[in-house]
Amino acid sequence: QADMALSQAKASGRQVLRFFNPHMQAQLLARVRLEADLRQAVIFKQWELHYQPQVDAHGELTGVEALLRWHHAEHGLVSPDEFIPLLESSGLITEVGEWILEQACHQLLAWSTHPRLGRLTISVNISPVQFREAGFVERVESVFARVQAPLTKLKLEVTESLFVEAPENVRETMLRLKRRGVRFSLDDFGTGYSSLAYLAKLPLDQLKIDQSFVQQVLTSDANAAIVESTIALAESLSLEVIAEGVEMRAQYEWLRAHGCLAYQGYLFGRPVPVALFEEQVLT
Ligand code: C2E
Ligand code: MG
Ligand code: MG
Ligand code: MG
Repeated sequence: QADMALSQAKASGRQVLRFFNPHMQAQLLARVRLEADLRQAVIFKQWELHYQPQVDAHGELTGVEALLRWHHAEHGLVSPDEFIPLLESSGLITEVGEWILEQACHQLLAWSTHPRLGRLTISVNISPVQFREAGFVERVESVFARVQAPLTKLKLEVTESLFVEAPENVRETMLRLKRRGVRFSLDDFGTGYSSLAYLAKLPLDQLKIDQSFVQQVLTSDANAAIVESTIALAESLSLEVIAEGVEMRAQYEWLRAHGCLAYQGYLFGRPVPVALFEEQVLT
């Protein structure tokens, strides 16, 4: 189909090609193919959740973030940065998002009776497109009805872009889910363009300092200042704060010395399949 569209574009002459160069053609084609593959992936559930540890100031494991992986037949593991935007623009995020949440709830339930794993929280990324969809709460509720997971262990990660439009509706949705015990974390904090007014209005529980700041705390005074202010802001708003993208021991020590008491990053562990994660924790 895509090939046909392209040959038609070619047939209609030079004028088209002038605005539609070979590089753009290749990009469009790759995108069309990826989207077709994504539809296959949705049908055949070529997804897997990987889990990355989150630790406290003692280095003690407290939870995990669930991160989606796509096993592509030819390309192998495809990064979510490449396909989440496509899931969003194609509307597939609704179905996949529900699958992700259900998997995470199954995991919470499976761990719930385990002496060590039963204490862990799971953070699940929620796309703003998914969150704003009509019927989002009902879908989430239907997952909760199917899987009786301990919902106080569930954190939903949202991003600032969600708060730009209709903050009243967003607040309403958050409150409905919070009544079930769910908590909210604000991912990639500091990278959005919105005003901070939403912080006072929305029922957040945690700020997650974006890795771009964390990775520069030792090398950039400006980034260090941003991280320090974020920690202070979280404290004065009674929010938890977690740093993501901690790769070096010196970054961890800096963060701990500056009052950030929760961390996630390669220093503590990479995202891995659940079997490997359990093995790492229990042995
Ligand atoms: P995010 O939610 O901010 O997730 C953190 C990303 O940073 C993950 O990339 C993780 O693997 C990576 N990371 C963790 N520690 C380190 C570190 O120490 N150094 C570096 N360089 N990177 C680190 P990943 O898994 O590729 O995911 C990228 C983004 O895709 C996520 O950013 C999130 O926005 C989105 N995403 C991932 N899984 C899901 C999902 O299940 N649903 C939705 N809606 N979005 C997802
Ligand atoms: Mg996240
Ligand atoms: Mg993040
Ligand atoms: Mg991100």
